[in-house]
Amino acid sequence: MKNYIGFDIGGTFVKGGIVDENGKLLVFDSIPTDTKNIVCDLAGFANKLLDKAGLSADKVEGIGMGIPGMIDSENGVVTFAGNLDWKNFAIAYELSAMTGFTVKITNDANAAALGEARFGAGKEYADSILVTLGTGVGGGIVIDGRLFSGRHSQGGEIGHMVIDKGGLKCTCGRRGCFEVYTSATALIRETKKAMTDNVDSEMWQDYTLDTVDGLTAFSHAKTDKTAARVIEAYEDNLACGLVNLANIFRPDVIMLGGGISNQGENLTKPLQKKFDKEIFAHGLGIPVPIVKASLGNKAGVLGAAAYAMDEI
Ligand SMILES: [Zn+2]
Repeated sequence: MKNYIGFDIGGTFVKGGIVDENGKLLVFDSIPTDTKNIVCDLAGFANKLLDKAGLSADKVEGIGMGIPGMIDSENGVVTFAGNLDWKNFAIAYELSAMTGFTVKITNDANAAALGEARFGAGKEYADSILVTLGTGVGGGIVIDGRLFSGRHSQGGEIGHMVIDKGGLKCTCGRRGCFEVYTSATALIRETKKAMTDNVDSEMWQDYTLDTVDGLTAFSHAKTDKTAARVIEAYEDNLACGLVNLANIFRPDVIMLGGGISNQGENLTKPLQKKFDKEIFAHGLGIPVPIVKASLGNKAGVLGAAAYAMDEI
């Protein structure tokens, strides 16, 4: 049985695990992210995981990593990672030199998409797309079971597809990006705006502008018109972007991850209706189901390991 180490690098924590070739997560743990000492820390973390799993280093084929930012997977270099303050950082080479393992890196959202495709909600399908609705909107595209991420792994930036030309400004510099309307950040912004404009909204009974979160509008949408309008608009925007993706890739399935996806069918059912109305050829084509991703916070580690399986 071959085993792989997967690391999912986040701004606050690094999640790590050892995964066998069947996708079984043998051990899982996390350490705080120290951006300045990351190579040393990861080498130590790898040893800790090996100890925990009772495996010697020769039982592991290599390390896969998912990193937030612009990655050059071909050269193992983090081209730019704003949150981690890394620029042109040859992390794969450095970690490989320190540990002796072969190290392969990709973008964190791509890793999660590969994890869900191979071992999660997409495992019955050949072609899948993961869209994560978190602070931003990320995702990845898997075609015929393999990650499709463009040259050197620099594509698949689903969140920066424009759905409203000339719309709201995005952190990437463009206007009207999918992310600006469908992230949790966007939902919170629109909920606050709706509450401010509607002082009689039921949402005020449970929330102040300081405590509004991604659940506020969802939790009141059945009984409060203002909340229902926020959700309606949110789902309209989400459907628009998902239809764009489906019209190009026509995947077997679209999976939703990130905090907002915890709404489950509360979100996917009405969303599917809007989506089915807009998708090319409507009901005449093969349906594209929208489902909740299933691996939760382990998708990144499982996907990073899967990336190592494919690339080593
Ligand atoms: Zn953008």
